[in-house]
Amino acid sequence: MSTKKHQGIENVDVIIVGTGPAGLGAAFHLSEHAPSLSILLIDREKYCSGGLLNDCKQNYTYPTGFAEGNWTRQEAERLLPQVEACLKPTIKEKQNLSVYQRRAERLGVSLLNIRQAHVGTDRSKELILRLRTELEARGVRFMLEQQVHDVFDTSDGAGVVMANGEIVHCGTVVVAPGRKGFEFLQQVMERMGISYIDNEVDIGIRVETRLDNYPIVSDYYDPKFLFPDKVRTFCTNSGHARVVLEQYHGFSLVNGHALSEKHAANNLVNFALLKTIGLKDPVRSGQQMAIFLARLANEIGGGKPIMQRVGDFRMGKRSNSETFNDDLFSFAPTCPATAGDLGLVVPAKIMRHIWGALKKLDTIVPGVLHPSTIMYYPEIKMYANKPAFLDNHFRVTENVYMVGDGAGTSRGITGAWASGIRAAEGILVR
Ligand SMILES: Cc1cc2nc3c(=O)[nH]c(=O)nc-3n(C[C@H](O)[C@H](O)[C@H](O)COP(=O)(O)OP(=O)(O)OC[C@H]3O[C@@H](n4cnc5c(N)ncnc54)[C@H](O)[C@@H]3O)c2cc1C
Repeated sequence: MSTKKHQGIENVDVIIVGTGPAGLGAAFHLSEHAPSLSILLIDREKYCSGGLLNDCKQNYTYPTGFAEGNWTRQEAERLLPQVEACLKPTIKEKQNLSVYQRRAERLGVSLLNIRQAHVGTDRSKELILRLRTELEARGVRFMLEQQVHDVFDTSDGAGVVMANGEIVHCGTVVVAPGRKGFEFLQQVMERMGISYIDNEVDIGIRVETRLDNYPIVSDYYDPKFLFPDKVRTFCTNSGHARVVLEQYHGFSLVNGHALSEKHAANNLVNFALLKTIGLKDPVRSGQQMAIFLARLANEIGGGKPIMQRVGDFRMGKRSNSETFNDDLFSFAPTCPATAGDLGLVVPAKIMRHIWGALKKLDTIVPGVLHPSTIMYYPEIKMYANKPAFLDNHFRVTENVYMVGDGAGTSRGITGAWASGIRAAEGILVR
């Protein structure tokens, strides 16, 4: 690949790769506290945003959204007000929390009390536009639809190599490429000789049911239940809620989102039930394990994830496309997955723990295990690609920082934004 200097982009102090919440968090903090710094944000997508574009539920209570190994409660609570000051959320009210908490505690389950806001996939674009306009007014530059191929940090300075071979020099690089930049980040770390561990992965299902079967969402928008065996609820959506496919190289996963309140409700709810798997020797990579499981599910599903009605699962039989919307199976799935048998694709231990959690949940919120409830698989969070950090600001070489979900410093929008601030604080100190 030829490398030549990028035309027109000069005198950059800080390059930020990725315009998701981690990159934006760094850009806001730097531009506020050092207005004379020249900052360039680069993203391969057409819009600045990253995962802010999806649903945009914001959780303002530790530990939700934070990777606990990298954060103490005190550190998170110091930065969350700064995140809130930029994102300006409207916090949702909760009702009847103590009733659900009491039921949960009797079963050895915790229900966290999280300060929450929800924007909705359709309205998140307005938020993103406001954030970008504010940054541009401070002189921050954006380079969109441009993929970064590599990052370097030599005695002559740091910078990035673009996919077309052009290079952009700078003083410091913040790499924040998110979960979808997982492979890119891994390649950069290998080329730069940065050691990393990839020993944790979240694997589970997405549950979709009628609002009547999970009415807790009218009291608490995204209830965070922690079950035994490291299983938790994650990313609950209601109102106009949909389960969606997330495309990766060679397979797809499921996820969920909802539109804002200005859209008519479809009276469905979806949420993930995830089990955290901590891998030990001799397993080499959580990512490889996740890809292997996802490919198996897509293979059995004819190129798509699998879905099964709870009624069929209980009877130990596969779901069929012909009977998928029959009788008690009375609502149509929002995601085009393949009707099949989770028992063929979910590892037994994971399924046992998730099913155990669902049974407890059905005692806390009776109805969720209605025969019509759909379980989609796989929902997998591959972000535990943790570099060996040199300091408390996620620095990995003299002038390069790695933050956000891709680098395993966060698990959600607010945690990613706070990670960006922590890197920015490190840059300002140095
Ligand atoms: C469907 C869905 C719904 C979600 N809903 C929520 C929610 O409601 N609440 C919540 O807290 N979290 C939610 N999340 C998770 C949330 O999006 C992430 O936790 C968060 O966005 C991580 O931020 P980040 O900045 O680390 O990465 P990202 O937001 O993923 O941003 C990374 C950016 O880097 C860019 N990039 C990657 N590689 C390169 C490269 N080589 N060159 C140039 N650019 C590159 C990408 O295009 C992307 O824009 C959801 C995720 C999905 C997929």
